[in-house]
Amino acid sequence: MNPPTEPGDLEAFLSGAKSICVLTGAGVSQESGVPTFRGADGLWRKFRPEDLATPEAFARDPLLVWEWYAWRRELIQRAQPNAAHLALADLEQRITALPGGQFTLLTQNVDGLHERAGSRNVVRLHGSIWHLRCSRCGEEREDRSVPLDPFPPRCECSGLLRPGVVWFGEPLPESEWSQAARAAAEAALFLVVGTSALVQPAASLPLIAKQNGARLVEVNPVPTPLSEMADCVVRSTAAEALGKLRTIH
Ligand code: NAD
Ligand code: ZN
Repeated sequence: MNPPTEPGDLEAFLSGAKSICVLTGAGVSQESGVPTFRGADGLWRKFRPEDLATPEAFARDPLLVWEWYAWRRELIQRAQPNAAHLALADLEQRITALPGGQFTLLTQNVDGLHERAGSRNVVRLHGSIWHLRCSRCGEEREDRSVPLDPFPPRCECSGLLRPGVVWFGEPLPESEWSQAARAAAEAALFLVVGTSALVQPAASLPLIAKQNGARLVEVNPVPTPLSEMADCVVRSTAAEALGKLRTIH
C-alpha cells in the first residue's frame, strides 16, 4: 500500500479517469448529522442490530422496529447534504460531460442524501428509508410522510408494511446488485467513501473492481479491511477530502 495521501492530492489521483465508480457508506452522511452504525458514535453501540434490523425482529415486534425507523426518518429529514454529497454530484456532471465518460454511484445508505445533492446515476444497494414495502406480497411504494403513522399500516393484501430497506440476512435487490457488479468491473477508478467494508456483499464490490484492473482509492478516517489493497488512502473525513475536489477534469 502507498502511504496515506493528503486530501489535496486526491484531486491529482482522480484527474484523467473517465470511468469512475463510487461506493459510499454511512460515513458519507456522518457530517450531515446522520449517525453511522459502527464506529465511535455508531448506533450499534446503543442498540442491537438483531433487535431492530432483521426480518425476524419485525415479525416479533413490528412496533418497536417501526418506531426506530420513524425516529431515523425524522433525523434524516432534518439533515442536509454535506460537502461530500455535493462534490460527488459535481464529479458526476464533470465525468459524464466527457466523451465516453461513465459515472456510477453505489450507495449502502438509505437516507436519499445523494439524490438530494443532485446525483443522478445512483444505485441504492440497501433500499430507501423513503419507501415502504409489504412484508407479505412485496409491493413497494414511496412514502415521504414525517412523522410516520404511529403503527405500521396494512397493505391491500392485509400484510404489514415495513421500511423499504435491506435488513441483515436479506438478499440485495437483484437488479441493483447486477448493475453494481457491472459498474465495478468496468470502472478505471473505484472510490470508496465512509464504509467499514464489513457488510457483504457490498464490501466485495471494491475487490471486483480491483480484479478487473481498477485503481482503488479509500476515504475513511480509520483503517478498514480495504486499506491494505488500496492504491491511495485518504485518512480524513468525507466532507474534508471530497470538499476539495471541485477543480478536477
Ligand atoms: P458503518 O456504520 O459500518 O461504517 C461507517 C464507516 O464510516 C466507518 O468505517 C467509519 O470509520 C467511517 N466514517 C465515520 N465518519 C466518517 C466521515 N465523517 N467521513 C468518512 N468516513 C467516516 O456503515 P456502512 O459501511 O455503510 O455499512 C453498514 C450499513 O449501515 C449499511 O447497510 C447501510 O445501509 C446502513 N446505514 C445507513 C445509514 C444512512 O443511510 N445514512 C446510516 C447508518 C447505517
Ligand atoms: Zn401486500
